[in-house]
Amino acid sequence: MTERIGFIGLGIMGRGMAHNLLKAGFELRVWNRTASRADELVQAGAIAAATPAELAAQSDVVIVCVSDTPDVVGVVLGEQGVIGGAQSGALVIDMSTISPQVTQEIAAKLGDKGVHMLDAPVSGGSEGAARGTLSIMVGGDAAQLERAMPLLQAMGKTITHVGGHGSGQTVKLVNQILVVGNALAMSEALLFAQAGGVDLQRAFDAVSQGAAGSWMLSNRGPQILARDWRPGFTIDLQQKDLRLVLAAADQMGVPVLATGLISNLYRTLQARDLGSEGNHALIKALEVLAGFEVGQSNAPDA
Ligand code: NAP
Repeated sequence: MTERIGFIGLGIMGRGMAHNLLKAGFELRVWNRTASRADELVQAGAIAAATPAELAAQSDVVIVCVSDTPDVVGVVLGEQGVIGGAQSGALVIDMSTISPQVTQEIAAKLGDKGVHMLDAPVSGGSEGAARGTLSIMVGGDAAQLERAMPLLQAMGKTITHVGGHGSGQTVKLVNQILVVGNALAMSEALLFAQAGGVDLQRAFDAVSQGAAGSWMLSNRGPQILARDWRPGFTIDLQQKDLRLVLAAADQMGVPVLATGLISNLYRTLQARDLGSEGNHALIKALEVLAGFEVGQSNAPDA
């Protein structure tokens, strides 16, 4: 029997992921806090639900993709939340990036009602969500992952079981340490290239396919050269992820020097009201320090 799917959170990521479930032929119910954002999905064949509880009552599997830890707690455990409607045996898959520890607490509360949970945060950006090529890191029971596999395969390409409840979120934070390190290296490198007086596009072409290549450089480098700050992933959400990394690192007693520095650089951009720009706008924090901008002709003479 094909499972009935409910999807909560139709933002930059959720929208593309929900479309791919529809395309794969799943019966899909949707709920979004700002109801009008569900219109596009309803036109494509999804059924709008009035509340997360109503959506859960009519779904076998409920997927959540909202912003932050308190938001997941609200839509899953809050008044009119998923827990109020889900039947025993249902499965909740949280694809947001949130606290690993709170994930374990949510899984325990759902478990008390006989409802299963997987944490399945994603990587691959808005492009990966739209194309169905996300990397998905999954925590929870192997049997529930096997059950979820057909729908995860409609949204992602690399699906990895990394451990029990909360482990998916821990691995997502590992991912974010790598992401922001790449973003900082890209920013420094482009400023250096500009100061060195070389053509930025040629510098990009020369290095992006070699050992220095990265998803960040290939996808966000061209946006920086065009000074296009539209978000695939906003600075506010990036900063939220770094807050989660720093809190977990503090608990574990592990040093995360570069991540702490980059978190502070993002903070300066939030203080300048740039939180809704893409995370590649990190370069703007370095431009202030350097005294010139990439892509402009005011770099110091090489
Ligand atoms: P987004 O475009 O800002 O969308 C956020 C979604 O969460 C919207 O549907 C929003 O509803 C909903 N939401 C926020 N707070 C809520 C609350 N208290 N109650 C109910 N709904 C709430 O964010 P996104 O980029 O899609 O990111 C979603 C999640 O995926 C985040 O955890 C993010 O860290 C993670 N992620 C994002 C990317 C990326 O590249 N964008 C990549 C990997 C992982 P409204 O429409 O009403 O605001």
